[in-house]
Amino acid sequence: MLTLTLPAEVVDSFKQIAGSSNVLTDVEDTFVYSRHKLNSIQPTLNVQAVVRTGSQTQTQEIMRTCRKEGILVTQIEAVDQVIGRPPIVIVDDRPQPQLDPVAEPMAHMMSLMSQVTTGGVLNHALALCLKLDSRPASKCAECNTCSSYCTVAPSFNGIETWSAKGRIMVTRAVTGNTLPISQKATDVIFNCSLCGLCFANCLPASETHDAIRAVRHRLALQGLTPSSIEAAAGNITRVGDPSGTPPTNRLRWMKQTPELYTRRQRTKARVLYWIGCTVATRTENTPRAITRILNYGGVDFTTLGEKEGCCGYLLLATGLWEKAKANAEQLIEKVEASGADTLITSCSGCYYTFTKLFPKILNIDTPFDVFHTSQYLRNLLRDGLLHLGNAGGKRVTYHDPCSLGRHARVYEDPREVLKRIPGLRLVEMQLNRTRARCCGGGGGLWTINNKVSLQTGIDRLKADAAPLKVNSLVTGCPICQLNLRFAALRSRVPIKVLDLGEVVENALLKND
Ligand code: SF4
Ligand code: SF4
Repeated sequence: MLTLTLPAEVVDSFKQIAGSSNVLTDVEDTFVYSRHKLNSIQPTLNVQAVVRTGSQTQTQEIMRTCRKEGILVTQIEAVDQVIGRPPIVIVDDRPQPQLDPVAEPMAHMMSLMSQVTTGGVLNHALALCLKLDSRPASKCAECNTCSSYCTVAPSFNGIETWSAKGRIMVTRAVTGNTLPISQKATDVIFNCSLCGLCFANCLPASETHDAIRAVRHRLALQGLTPSSIEAAAGNITRVGDPSGTPPTNRLRWMKQTPELYTRRQRTKARVLYWIGCTVATRTENTPRAITRILNYGGVDFTTLGEKEGCCGYLLLATGLWEKAKANAEQLIEKVEASGADTLITSCSGCYYTFTKLFPKILNIDTPFDVFHTSQYLRNLLRDGLLHLGNAGGKRVTYHDPCSLGRHARVYEDPREVLKRIPGLRLVEMQLNRTRARCCGGGGGLWTINNKVSLQTGIDRLKADAAPLKVNSLVTGCPICQLNLRFAALRSRVPIKVLDLGEVVENALLKND
């Protein structure tokens, strides 16, 4: 005779075996795991609890406990054999998801093959129907391919609710009112770096990050934005910087190097160097380097100094779109007043915001051309305006920021810049370009869950960069730079983390 509800003492014994955080009974967890069967667009399992086990011994103990109590239990890989909808306990004993650069393409192929052989007709019909539907989350066929690519999943012990598939299911369910909005659902939705790795590996190309941003907007409209994000948003409105750094601090690097800056400072100029709040106050070597390079190349440029403010990436990523719109309108007025028709920025987040998020979310097209510094430096180099000396055989690798790479498709410009430096050896990490592992800093994750952010950065450095024995890791984003620098310090990986501008500046031959 099967038990219909799970006695509390049985749940307690599960916790003793696997640890409390690995015994999942919340409605969000049972919802996600209830659809684990292939092609299960409707819930097919009556899940009472899920136990995430970390060893064979734990799995066997859970199975034994259930059988002794007359509770139907199944290991996750055998859920397809459960007939009907009896109440069950699922033991999720799969290994931790890992971005394994060698096995990855094969795993992806195997996953697609298994869909074709065990229900391909339905899946393809579904994919076709969903392609006709423009709502991004609705394309998801719940195949689970993306979960093994999810940036944050390892930090949550690979529990499906916190993986890409689980997050998209919770997003879709909250949007469609299938699940109530709860603290847990909100946490699942916000513990995501919007890196787009799931999207890049999704067969029906579910725009998972778009759907997650959209549900965050819905939560914002109901006043359910996490308080740490609200505080950062308040700082943007108050002082033009999510961290609350006063505007006068933006001039610190300029004051230290007036000879580099003032010679070219104008109130109006054709080119505006948009430094970005994080770059101006926390990675000050970058504007110093870019300013020197622009001066060297004879570029007539200006900056907005204290008046610059924030591009509003954090507001757009976390669903505070009304605030983002007001911020964007002010920003465009300021840029127009500078007389510039070209804006260059060292921040991949600013670049993504101006070129993709403004038009997509706010329906705003910037009335000026926007370049990331990697693109602008490539042009200066192609035009022969920068003369570079020999880098003496230094080995570097390039980290693709998600905002610049996967989201804005700027992959080759920074690489061309590095390759144009004589004597510099560019060595690629195996996970590069569309498949690059995230640094962990984007999408508001840094503000929401700094621990997960840092761990992701450590994984990127240790697993991907350290084996290359490079002197430096180069990137084009201040958040990547800071997060990976903290990661290098914390994990004692002896790799310098630099902005592309710093590497070019170091190679400039003296003539200015
Ligand atoms: S988002 Fe794409 S890869 Fe992930 S479960 Fe859905 S269909 Fe599969
Ligand atoms: S965007 Fe990145 S962190 Fe978010 S669900 Fe997708 S893979 Fe995971």
